[in-house]
Amino acid sequence: MSLRLFSLVSLAIAVMIGSGCATSPTGRSQLMLVSEGQAIAASQQAYLNTVTELNKEGKIVTDPAVVRRVQGITNNLVAQAKVMRPESAKWAWEVKVIDEPEEVNAWCMAGGKMAIYTGMLNKLKPTDDELAQVIGHEISHALANHTAERMSVAMASSLGVTLLGVATESNELAMTAGVVAAKLALELPNSREGESEADAIGIELAARAGYDPRAAVTLWQKMGQVGGSAPPQFLSTHPSPANRRQRLQKLAEKLMPLYERARAQR
Ligand SMILES: [Zn+2]
Repeated sequence: MSLRLFSLVSLAIAVMIGSGCATSPTGRSQLMLVSEGQAIAASQQAYLNTVTELNKEGKIVTDPAVVRRVQGITNNLVAQAKVMRPESAKWAWEVKVIDEPEEVNAWCMAGGKMAIYTGMLNKLKPTDDELAQVIGHEISHALANHTAERMSVAMASSLGVTLLGVATESNELAMTAGVVAAKLALELPNSREGESEADAIGIELAARAGYDPRAAVTLWQKMGQVGGSAPPQFLSTHPSPANRRQRLQKLAEKLMPLYERARAQR
């Protein structure tokens, strides 16, 4: 075992010593091996590494029309996220559009570091209301601390194999176990309970920001229809909770007055 691998494992174990359980906004118990603060710090570094790498490859979209659209919707949603969870006002919220036309994907790391792939825009052709549902759903995973939860799962399940595998492939000397876990967490599926939470929080954020809650239903419909040979990456990391469609429909009906009010004030 090299010194670097050894220190990586030591760090992971040191992080795990502070392990425990937490409770999600809906009262579900979460496995927590990293605190939210640790998850935010590691995610910030992981995001910087990822964006720097993609920038070198020319894969960060700079087309003003695309950037303006995504940034505008994100800003409206983030404003509501800050109302819903005031401490998130301190987060360094950021969104990038990644030029991967075949990849139907989007994610949000702990602390509000987001990405949306051009495949999501080109293949799904979402309306603004639908795009707001995607981004709102991702923001909700961060607000509900799901990233720290998935990082914990990454650390607990992959210490022996994946974490070391990634570490040996990586040239980044500074890449700590937490940063590796933050990246790995993006590939891991959320739990179905986590999905239900993100659906409920996301659709409400969007309604408060003046986006039609009924678009959540049509978004997931479109998501199921897109695909071709391979299903969208987004569906593998966002598994379908039981009766998603019916639940979203009910939530949408309930949120209509809130949406109408928000839209009138726009
Ligand atoms: Zn999700």
